[in-house]
Amino acid sequence: MYDSIVIGAGIAGSTAARQLAEKGNRKVLVIEKRDHIGGNCYDRLDEYGILVHEYGPHIFHTDMEDVFSYLSRFTEWNLYENGHQVVADVNGKLIPVPFNLNTLHMVYDKDLADTLEKKLLDCYGKGSRVAIMELRKNPDLQIQAIAQYVYENVFLKYTMKQWGQTPEEISPEVTGRVPVLVSYDNRYFQDKYQGVPLYGFTAMFERMLDHENITVLTGTDAAGLLEFKDTNAEIWFKGRKFEGSVIYTGELDQLYGLKYGRLPYRSLRFDFEHLDQEDFQNGHSVVNYTVSEDFTRITEFQYLTGQKDASGTTIVREYPFAYSGAEGEIPYYAIMNPENETLYQKYKKLAEHYPNLHLLGRLAEYRYYNIDAMTKKALELAETLL
Ligand code: FAD
Ligand code: UDP
Repeated sequence: MYDSIVIGAGIAGSTAARQLAEKGNRKVLVIEKRDHIGGNCYDRLDEYGILVHEYGPHIFHTDMEDVFSYLSRFTEWNLYENGHQVVADVNGKLIPVPFNLNTLHMVYDKDLADTLEKKLLDCYGKGSRVAIMELRKNPDLQIQAIAQYVYENVFLKYTMKQWGQTPEEISPEVTGRVPVLVSYDNRYFQDKYQGVPLYGFTAMFERMLDHENITVLTGTDAAGLLEFKDTNAEIWFKGRKFEGSVIYTGELDQLYGLKYGRLPYRSLRFDFEHLDQEDFQNGHSVVNYTVSEDFTRITEFQYLTGQKDASGTTIVREYPFAYSGAEGEIPYYAIMNPENETLYQKYKKLAEHYPNLHLLGRLAEYRYYNIDAMTKKALELAETLL
């Protein structure tokens, strides 16, 4: 029998399972409803032999030494020498995103750009990171003009596509992820470590879950094996009360049959295309379409993964839409706002009745976590359980 059950084999579940199994010598059952491990980080070779990220481009980036060294036990890395760089297609012209001093000099003529640069430096200081919604509040008219340019050409349309709402309507935390940089830094992230596992994410997950104390069941919905008995807050597994810890990384509303209504999410459709040509984006791994098109961005995988041995190139376009819960749809992004948070808290209260249930992950916690933050959170949870 098992000491612990982990529901979901994404980075949250896999990290927690490994720690419980290895450090705590617990027998752990990991239940995953998809037919593969890795959650949204999953990658695979497509029919042309090109390594693609099935659920959108994933770049590991972190400043946390402990997280980096922990995951480095399971993989070597292809660390990007110049960081992960993204450009936005603004009416056919490619500009660096986040908007930074290089971008400033590309969109304004030299004299004006010099003046504006000085103003930004005087006002915010060299190297600072200013959220677009903050920049817009600056009383200086020239800084306001930059903010307006960035708002209109980088954020407005992209955010409308991604969230179905304007930047004002969504949580400032979300647009704050891509601040204006008062530096000549074209990197999308400012973290010390950025890159991808050398042999892919899936290979890294395979090694994480490869432990004598771990059993993985893929293609299995936990709903079919576990019963949550609300009246006495007991979790039953295969017809018996289960007393060990249960870590749940799925959608919280699903645990309770959507009792209070559905937690809202945004979903994505990924349209993959293989092209019989060497290059599609002139070396750019990701191009954001910030003023045109229905898709948000195009990723060209060979430049994300560094793969050199395939012929042709594979790209993916991302089309956001509102998650409806229909068969096959995946909830990717929690829509963080006060109303949804209240609904989430109602479900969380129910979960708190169960002494051995632990919520972990982007879905179960209804939060916007990157891979590194998720790993850290899972390591911490495992620590408290041991
Ligand atoms: P998931 O990866 O979603 O794993 C949860 C797992 O639980 C899933 O496999 C699901 O099938 C399973 N599950 C749910 N319910 C059940 C059930 N009832 N029974 C059995 N199994 C169940 N982060 C970065 O750091 N860098 C990036 O570049 C980046 N890019 C991203 C791009 C996109 C398009 C998206 C959507 C996210 C991106 N992220 C990125 C975030 C990253 O995907 C998450 O931080 C990470 O996947 C969260 O891991 P998780 O384990 O919480 O969730
Ligand atoms: N964003 C934008 N234009 C861009 C990049 C980002 O408007 O070119 C906004 C958009 O609202 C997006 C948010 O900033 O959802 C956060 O972007 P990030 O790249 O962090 O999102 P991720 O793809 O990692 O979820």
